[in-house]
Amino acid sequence: MKIVLCAIVMALCTAGFLEAQVDPSWKPNDPDRPLPAVIAAGTEGTQEAPGRPPSDAIVLFSGKDLSQWMGEDSQPPKRKVADGYMEVVPHTGCIHTRQPFGDCQLHVEFAEPMPPVGEGQGRGNSGVFLMGLYEIQVLDSYQNKTYADGEAAAVYGQFPPLVNVSRPPGQWQTYDIIFHGPRFGKDGKVLRPARATVLHNGVLVQDNVELSGPTAHHDRPPYNQTPDKLPLSIQDHGNPVRFRNI
Ligand code: MG
Repeated sequence: MKIVLCAIVMALCTAGFLEAQVDPSWKPNDPDRPLPAVIAAGTEGTQEAPGRPPSDAIVLFSGKDLSQWMGEDSQPPKRKVADGYMEVVPHTGCIHTRQPFGDCQLHVEFAEPMPPVGEGQGRGNSGVFLMGLYEIQVLDSYQNKTYADGEAAAVYGQFPPLVNVSRPPGQWQTYDIIFHGPRFGKDGKVLRPARATVLHNGVLVQDNVELSGPTAHHDRPPYNQTPDKLPLSIQDHGNPVRFRNI
């Protein structure tokens, strides 16, 4: 299958998030209430090319360079960049953003290796680690059986996706993630666990789920106190998965 990998990789991360309760300091339809900022909408992507991000997005990968990323141990990020995508170079380590992020809206696109190689967790495995700790699984889950909470778009080890809406390998797929990081008291106790909502290829697959703690394998460890923001990372699981439009 031929996929033209034109691209931009951009990620949208907004600085804050809307409060979930009505602010009583404003009357209904109050004309004095400050208006939201005006931004320019983005455009939809296609298999041939990614869309344009909205004007207030923080672009983490435009398809051209890795200037927003670092490798492990502060080394330069080891990823192949070509034709508008970045590709995992197996066994070169995870990469993470230079900038820390906490609560965010994140758009990321990925394409699984074509032809597919391997089975189960060994096929097209990568991952988007929110705050470097909480993995939204990236996997080739198209006609590839594995355990439920390890499928594509799972909160790894915690929540299977509501449906498996994976596209065939080689095709561009999207994650739209709304994440609220955990909050801790001064004593280190959890005031608010992390929550995530995920749309995979436009379909709701994680509905405001409450994370039990950071991601682990065969384990569900408790939260450890962290800052509100930490770098976002992308996993190297030994498979040449491509990313664009972060
Ligand atoms: Mg993974």
